[in-house]
Amino acid sequence: MANGFTYLDPWTKLTKIQLTVTNIYESFESEFQTIDVFETRDFGTVLALGGVTNVTDRDESSYHELLAHAPMFAHPNPKRVLIIGGGDGGTLREVLRHESVEEAVLVDIDGEVIRCARQYFPELAASLDHPKATVIVGDGLAYVEEQAAAGAAFDVILIDSTDPVDAAVELFTREFYEGCATLLGDEGILVPQSDSPTFCLDRVADIYHTLRDVFGHARLYLGQTVMYPGGFWAFCAASRGGDIAQRALPIARIQAMEPELRYFSAEFAQGMFALPLYVRRAINGEKGPGPTLADTP
Ligand code: SAM
Repeated sequence: MANGFTYLDPWTKLTKIQLTVTNIYESFESEFQTIDVFETRDFGTVLALGGVTNVTDRDESSYHELLAHAPMFAHPNPKRVLIIGGGDGGTLREVLRHESVEEAVLVDIDGEVIRCARQYFPELAASLDHPKATVIVGDGLAYVEEQAAAGAAFDVILIDSTDPVDAAVELFTREFYEGCATLLGDEGILVPQSDSPTFCLDRVADIYHTLRDVFGHARLYLGQTVMYPGGFWAFCAASRGGDIAQRALPIARIQAMEPELRYFSAEFAQGMFALPLYVRRAINGEKGPGPTLADTP
């Protein structure tokens, strides 16, 4: 990762974003991935997994708020929430802002990510010790299969995984989404992080189509994530219980949480499912000018 005091985060094979590193805390191979934790001049503390930026403490809030609050506010009463991945604790922190939550289970395959979060991202990792949180070190696919066999139920499932490499490949499969569907009731909502619309639009469209097939209803939404490729990320909300975009939003509840948030607001939520034309065309097979950069090798 850090070459001297420069870190190059790959946005595509040939385009990299350069960060100035001021201190390297850890750089090692865990059982599952390369883990680097370092301090940068402009983005604060950075966690890179497999040589790719996963968390920076300056820009983490938008990703975590987008992933968590869209489904948490769309569900009428989310009590049991499952997070697969997300060992840094950021998504869990956002989920636990909702008073309706009785239990939030987080399953990350790599205990070393959880340890690094506790050590270097205390503001995120505080959620891991919340009394409503259950933290499990294990494989997300195996956990979902076990819970489905046991007849368990969740209201919201969030897939806060690394991109589809190594152990995370299985978290982007139809079989995994089907397992999640069996854990969710009709009002239940699944949201996986769904990749870069700027560089990987085919993958974004694949996730959308697979989820729509499995659940019957899926809606993409996008938001800013400064340090992920393209600075803009996709999320896909899937449910068996009708079109999520038609659900009434609890505007007063969102407004009441706004003082704690940096990105998600009642105003944002009301326009959240509006898509840029090139994305809408890609997922609906509509004619017209396509993306400019998507699927750059
Ligand atoms: N927000 C980040 C992003 O999109 O780049 C992801 C953050 S989170 C740190 C990703 C986590 O997914 C990692 O901690 C990794 O260990 C975990 N992960 C990868 N494959 C997994 C699997 N099969 N089961 C559970 N967790 C997994």
